[in-house]
Amino acid sequence: MISVEEAIRIVLSKSSPVSVETVDLDTAMGRVLAEDIIADTDLPPFNRAQMDGFALRSADASRVPVRLAIVGESAAGSGWHNVLQSGEAVRIMTGAPVPEGADCVQKVEVTREFDSTVEISEAPDPGQFIVVKASEVRSGERVIPRGTRLNAAMVAALAAFGYGRPRVYVQPRVSVIPTGSELVRVDETPGRDQIRDSNGFSLSAYAKLAGAIVERVPVAIDDPELLKEQIAAATKRSDMVVLSGGVSMGVYDFTKAALRQLGAEIFFERVSLRPGKPTVFARLGQTLIFGLPGNPVSVSVTFNLFARTALLAMQGDTSPLLEEVNAVLTRGLKGAAERASYLPGIFKTDAEGKLLVEPLKWGGSSDFVAFTQATALIIVPAGVGRFEDGQVVRTLKLPG
Ligand code: AMP
Ligand code: MG
Repeated sequence: MISVEEAIRIVLSKSSPVSVETVDLDTAMGRVLAEDIIADTDLPPFNRAQMDGFALRSADASRVPVRLAIVGESAAGSGWHNVLQSGEAVRIMTGAPVPEGADCVQKVEVTREFDSTVEISEAPDPGQFIVVKASEVRSGERVIPRGTRLNAAMVAALAAFGYGRPRVYVQPRVSVIPTGSELVRVDETPGRDQIRDSNGFSLSAYAKLAGAIVERVPVAIDDPELLKEQIAAATKRSDMVVLSGGVSMGVYDFTKAALRQLGAEIFFERVSLRPGKPTVFARLGQTLIFGLPGNPVSVSVTFNLFARTALLAMQGDTSPLLEEVNAVLTRGLKGAAERASYLPGIFKTDAEGKLLVEPLKWGGSSDFVAFTQATALIIVPAGVGRFEDGQVVRTLKLPG
């Protein structure tokens, strides 16, 4: 049995970017950049006014009130391109270029106009209300590195620097196959001994959050031959196949046998993890395959620890792991002797702003309704009998 860290290391070593494409900037949100974004202009591109008012020489208004001659106007998009002289002022709008010769802007609220002059009633500081050219970004500077997943603010930066069709990594295609003869569809009423498939939907949702294009395959019954056919077919059209169920030691657990008979290379099939010990990671042709234990909470934990990591790495994302943060435990928590536990919790803050994590009250790895509240996974390393309340613990932020 391997550790979670070792399993993640193996997953990363087998996961590389699928390929690269260019997309319309309108659809780039959430995609991972396959190129560095380089500023093609200074920002601001000129000394820019931060206020509506008058551009002037601060020395001319060191004693107030003072009257200056209005010699022109600078608006956003059409500046006044002469040199301002002593005794002069230029009417200026927010976002407009500050004319040469002026060293400050005084806001309109402390000025009064008389015909072609303006009275300044408050002495300005040199440099005030001017954002200096290139003070935010210099032309040629790298503003966003390759391997970054684009958020909305980043999309704006791409627009500002002319990246109308950025190069991004291709989204992996993922097939999700729930297995189990007890499973019925969401629109069916479960009969005796049956339950509705929910893993198909959680896996599909998590895979989409991880940037994949997902196909949710109809439930596979516990039949070794049919399962083999379904895995083989899904493998042909996907970069990754994620199965739930059928990886334990039961007589109807056929996933591993099916993978072996198909000739898949199995990288690991047991991880020192609670919940999620029987997690399988394999490759068939070029397609990565995850066989996850069927309990709904185990599915969520193992998907996010392993399959999500693979999906992000397959998109060239340079931070493919779940974000780890330390938090203070609000209640004692039991660990396991021989396996690391990744237990659901809820992040909170206290009055001082300290990050807390409250272990979820739940009924175990089948309790997916309690798990809907989870925002954290609390890591209890193997061999830790118990964490007491008030202890600082390592936690992972759950996506979604
Ligand atoms: P298995 O790993 O196949 O032994 O399944 C473990 C438990 O998870 C069983 O109680 C299953 O009924 C349940 N389970 C398996 N697959 C699903 C699914 N797709 N949706 C909801 N529960 C499931
Ligand atoms: Mg099963």
